[in-house]
Amino acid sequence: MTSASHLFYQTRLRRPLVDRAEGIYLYDRNGKKVIDGSSGAMVANIGHGNRHVIEAMKAQLERVSFAYRLHFENEPAEELARRAAGYMPDGMDKVFFVSGGSEAVESCLKLARQYAVAVGQGSRWKVISRFPSYHGSTLGALAVTGYAALTDPFTPMMQEMPKIVAPTAYLDRDNFSMEERGIRYADKLEEKIIEEGPESVLAFIMEPIGGASTGALVAPDSYYPRIRDICDRHSILLIHDEVMSGAGRTGKFLGGDHWNCQPDLIALSKGFGAGYSPLGAMIAPSRLVQPVLDAGGFMHGYTYAGNPLACAAGLAVLDEIERLGLVENAAVMGELLKAELVKLSERFPFIGDVRGKGLLLAAEFVVDRQTMKPLPKELNAFQRVVDIAYDKGLIIYSRRTRGGIEGDHFLVCPPMIITPEEIGEVVSILDDTLLQLAGELGL
Ligand code: PLP
Repeated sequence: MTSASHLFYQTRLRRPLVDRAEGIYLYDRNGKKVIDGSSGAMVANIGHGNRHVIEAMKAQLERVSFAYRLHFENEPAEELARRAAGYMPDGMDKVFFVSGGSEAVESCLKLARQYAVAVGQGSRWKVISRFPSYHGSTLGALAVTGYAALTDPFTPMMQEMPKIVAPTAYLDRDNFSMEERGIRYADKLEEKIIEEGPESVLAFIMEPIGGASTGALVAPDSYYPRIRDICDRHSILLIHDEVMSGAGRTGKFLGGDHWNCQPDLIALSKGFGAGYSPLGAMIAPSRLVQPVLDAGGFMHGYTYAGNPLACAAGLAVLDEIERLGLVENAAVMGELLKAELVKLSERFPFIGDVRGKGLLLAAEFVVDRQTMKPLPKELNAFQRVVDIAYDKGLIIYSRRTRGGIEGDHFLVCPPMIITPEEIGEVVSILDDTLLQLAGELGL
């Protein structure tokens, strides 16, 4: 690609041209083979080039690729809604299709708001969220995102929302147990609700297992039921953003399933279409949807919502998740990979923490484990580790979180079809990468 390209994204950085992909591997135009160790952006959960999905999409293309939802219902959308509802917590059986994660989050925010109006609680409009967090790129989703680098250029926003610190209990150096810390972090929500005025608060949104912004942050077990209890006591809706943690990646279909969470709304995307088609969904219970429909309808929708081709892809992806036992495989392979990452952290003391569940795993860089201080920003460790790994044949994902908790981490989130031998390949490249990084940065 030359500089005369008409295409642009966030930065001036140009990447190699991708040529083809198969299983856990991607190939560039020069024939270089790399392991997709981050499933793209934690999307390609069932791997690349899956024949069942390709054939299902071809067959749907031959029948009908697009029919507008105001003119026609379509079978793949009906069937995918039915199948997806089967994976949801009790009572969460209404599915609203969208084309991506930001749209799924926006849909949750708008349904929550319209529900409040429909039941005579129109004074409730604030949505509390956490920092660091990432919920999407649209202005509504950005307003609940806790990531200063992404939000600052747009402030003052349409409306910026109140935020509480994410439950980074692993960083705390106090005498509390992890479970006590979990309660204390959850109680920050209650403090914020009271500060804002409970009658003005509509919802609380969180990633049950953090994504790229926190590096697979998992709260202490006590956090989850306490959050539910606080939301109930103040009649606040709990929104789970499962865009990254959903569709089996963490070894359960939903990240929240590890704690039997019962959120009021769920945002799903990424692994749901697994990269075969832009696809996402908001899942809601009838008790929230019906009052909105009765009051005149949900004033929201996207042109591509529920389009037959995307839904046919989603159905075939679910088929493969089930046929190949991929949720279970993510759990087992995740254990294996996490154990290997812990071993690496023993060899490389600048890895201060290894965390996550299933195949949503991350390692954080620190100066030392006693203080857990972040590496100096100037080292640019988060970018360097990705570049070194790529040269050696492995794609990983990384961030330096700014605003809130400062630090570099990288995520290792290969497709859920990965085998123990392939995990071995990933770990061996990571080992070489960290060795080179340590040498280069003097760590
Ligand atoms: N929510 C979470 C937790 C995400 O990780 C992302 C994307 O990374 C989004 C929302 C936004 O999804 P999309 O980029 O598909 O709009």
